[in-house]
Amino acid sequence: MMEEEGIRPTDPRLKQFMVRVSKEKDDVDEDTLDEVIDTDLPLIASTLRNLLVIPDFRSFCSHLDQIFEECTDITSGNVASYIPELSKVSPNFWGMSVCTVDGQRYSKGDSTEPFTLQSCSKPLTYGLALQQLGSEKVHQFVGQEPSGEVFNALILDKHDMPHNPMINPGAIIMCGLLKSLVYENHAIDDILAEIMKTVKNLAANEYVGFSNEVYESEKATGFRNCAIAYLMMEKKCFPPSITVDDVLTLYYKSCSILGNCETLSVIAATLANGGVCPLTNKMVLRQDVVQNMLSLMQSCGMYDYSGHFAFQIGLPAKSGVSGGMMLVVPSVMGIGLWSPPLDRLGNSCRCLYFCERLLDFYCMHPYARLGHAVPAREDPTQRPGRDKEEHVIRILCAAARDDVDALQCYFLRNMDMNVRDYDGRSALHVAASEGHLESVRFLIDVCRVDVNARDRFGHTPRKDAEEFGNVYIANVLKCIGAEL
Ligand code: GLN
Repeated sequence: MMEEEGIRPTDPRLKQFMVRVSKEKDDVDEDTLDEVIDTDLPLIASTLRNLLVIPDFRSFCSHLDQIFEECTDITSGNVASYIPELSKVSPNFWGMSVCTVDGQRYSKGDSTEPFTLQSCSKPLTYGLALQQLGSEKVHQFVGQEPSGEVFNALILDKHDMPHNPMINPGAIIMCGLLKSLVYENHAIDDILAEIMKTVKNLAANEYVGFSNEVYESEKATGFRNCAIAYLMMEKKCFPPSITVDDVLTLYYKSCSILGNCETLSVIAATLANGGVCPLTNKMVLRQDVVQNMLSLMQSCGMYDYSGHFAFQIGLPAKSGVSGGMMLVVPSVMGIGLWSPPLDRLGNSCRCLYFCERLLDFYCMHPYARLGHAVPAREDPTQRPGRDKEEHVIRILCAAARDDVDALQCYFLRNMDMNVRDYDGRSALHVAASEGHLESVRFLIDVCRVDVNARDRFGHTPRKDAEEFGNVYIANVLKCIGAEL
């Protein structure tokens, strides 16, 4: 890891810092301390406060290792060959990178090996167009519906517009909008530079490059994309003064941007974080732009497998024919994956399997823990003990405001109605001292809580009731034999 990239929780310097600060306060090596603090103070601060989004990052990473290894059994699929340069890539590359919204990072395998983004660039050109033109304008030229067809199908929707910006016709239109409406009079390479600047900002300092070989190779063989562009010319899909040559050049070039798994993971993490890059804390895209991008990645990001993917995984994602893929776990993390062999729909076989296994293990599907459902899988964002603290606050606050409906609800959810706060006080202590008879009755008669619980001052609920002048409640407690 390069120093300017921000520190990882596994970085030995951070560990050294933590150990020293917690155990040998007088013995902090000043140089190390300065170096670590300079590198990433916000990360250190939240680590110290145990506020990182994945508190037990070490065990999360060891599960990722396990899933990563399992994926090596998947050997199906073929490396894309319709762009001749892509067929030269070894099918054995396999990389994975994770970056959380707090900048926790982990990588495995060929995570720094470069590959062209291909269709993973589509949400990015869409995002740039949205950022510059706004959603209303952009969607005068492109729809929001999945096409149900292969990504380079020669089809438009019933309004003669591309179905969405995540497939070739829509992405070609985005290049047209950038050329005609955003960067008018700019040379194609200058517009490419603007796209790459956005990609770099989304990816913090991770690698972003350009493959001229892939670009030339695609330009020489991109007959299907030519047909799509001419169809859209005929149907007047483009904004004014667009030429097929310009728009396709920009499209091929944006597909030929290079990145690696680390790049994709940071981009995905920036999206997961609402457009603010977690490693630089800079807002790269507006929240409304990211919302649009993620919505369409969720419904259209995996070609004509998008419906199945949304059903099974439920998370926004985008794949490309080079075998790359980014997966966004909103408000939690971004994952970048790369394995070149593709299934017949154009998605990487290993990357898909990785997502399935990840969701087998972790409760990440957005509908996996609605309402009172007890999730059947682990939630990596869970903080041990945090749930209990929340229960204490909820139950004691409900007793304090005499909210019997809420107490009833917690009781029906099987929550422990005997929980105590820092002072050893229970809901019954609170209800008795506040003079809330209904809550007292509910806690005694229905929940059958411990009427003799003593707080750290040695007080029972009956003692509290007497002390605060709630005579009737004190009598009720006395009648059922509660101690003073
Ligand atoms: N450059 C590729 C093409 O236009 C991108 C397609 C993809 O990744 N699915 O065919």
